[in-house]
Amino acid sequence: MDPQKILERTERCVCKLCGGKLQTKIIIYNKYGGQGIEMYCPHCGCIEYGTEAEIYRLAKDFVQSVEFDYFVEMGEGERNYQLNVAKICEVLGWCFRKLELIDEHGIKKNEPCNFDYET
Ligand SMILES: [Zn+2]
Repeated sequence: MDPQKILERTERCVCKLCGGKLQTKIIIYNKYGGQGIEMYCPHCGCIEYGTEAEIYRLAKDFVQSVEFDYFVEMGEGERNYQLNVAKICEVLGWCFRKLELIDEHGIKKNEPCNFDYET
């Protein structure tokens, strides 16, 4: 991924799990000098591609409103809640992309969505 796009995305997006702000991190892939810049959540301590802040808010609201639980075999708790929010972020992100509500610059707030997409 283009480093400039990663920087823009890091500024705009939040962690799918905790909703926290992302940072960029230089990752060394191997000792022969392979390296790249990745998005990282300092709170969760993992590489995280993130989601749009608007999508995270919607996902959180959805999980709370309908008590959504995709991970039924897992005990309830913060981790379970975060994974459910992240799952809905993926679903909503998919819908937003299909409906052309989103592009590489984030949510297109001033353009109509496209319900006539090709499957
Ligand atoms: Zn996080």
